[in-house]
Amino acid sequence: MRILGIVVAILVGGLNAASSQTMDREPDEPTIYSYCQQFQVLYTQIREQSIQPDSARRRFSQIMLGLKHRFDQDGRMRYDSLQRDSLRRTGQYFAFPIRGYNPRAIGGTHGEGYRGKGFDLFDYNVRGSHPAQDIFIADRNQDCIDDQTGRPADVLAMTSGVILAIETAWTPGSEYRGGNWIWLYDPVMNGLFYYAHNNVVDVLPGQWIGAGQKISEMGRSGFNAYKPRSPTHLHLMYLQILPSGLPEPEDTYKWLLSAKTSK
Ligand SMILES: [Zn+2]
Repeated sequence: MRILGIVVAILVGGLNAASSQTMDREPDEPTIYSYCQQFQVLYTQIREQSIQPDSARRRFSQIMLGLKHRFDQDGRMRYDSLQRDSLRRTGQYFAFPIRGYNPRAIGGTHGEGYRGKGFDLFDYNVRGSHPAQDIFIADRNQDCIDDQTGRPADVLAMTSGVILAIETAWTPGSEYRGGNWIWLYDPVMNGLFYYAHNNVVDVLPGQWIGAGQKISEMGRSGFNAYKPRSPTHLHLMYLQILPSGLPEPEDTYKWLLSAKTSK
């Protein structure tokens, strides 16, 4: 276990070194990987309610503004809001997040599973909202094996970006709702994608991922997702980062409809 930890640390350190070579960086400026670490710590504190919502909000905004600044220094990531809007309108920017599936797998009939009102990322006690789309696979016996293929279903990144944080240690009985989750930051959109209820997470913080690349295998992890009444699904959330550095949920439904599907 100890050796595994060291290997992972070296691997992540190496990826980090590779990414900093391609970007000009002032000597004392935090690396992208250090922002990943800060995000992981903060999100864990929010979940465990060991930080006050107001402090969490401040901390989050600092991390997101720092991360954006870091990417803005690299010309390739510099998009103005007009270019960004046009990217979001063209469906080709997005990959459908489950291999072998298409928009028919989205819960509900017109994306009405999305309920953004009342959402507060910083207060774990606030419930009732669902600022996300749930996308279902055929898994009648709930063994996390896709009934159509006989294999696990691959979760694919909807857009390119850097993996900010992951959870891999969820166990049945844990009250945490997201299970094994992945947070990905897309510097072009300046937004965060959250992929929850995974079985196996295949990425590491600091890793750069291309749109359509496999990031995990779908699962039933999470307090409610594990219960028999819940069909096997991916919980997909997108948070737009505002100029203040704070997040605002946005419905991914329109993007999912036009996204490129993978076989
Ligand atoms: Zn959901």
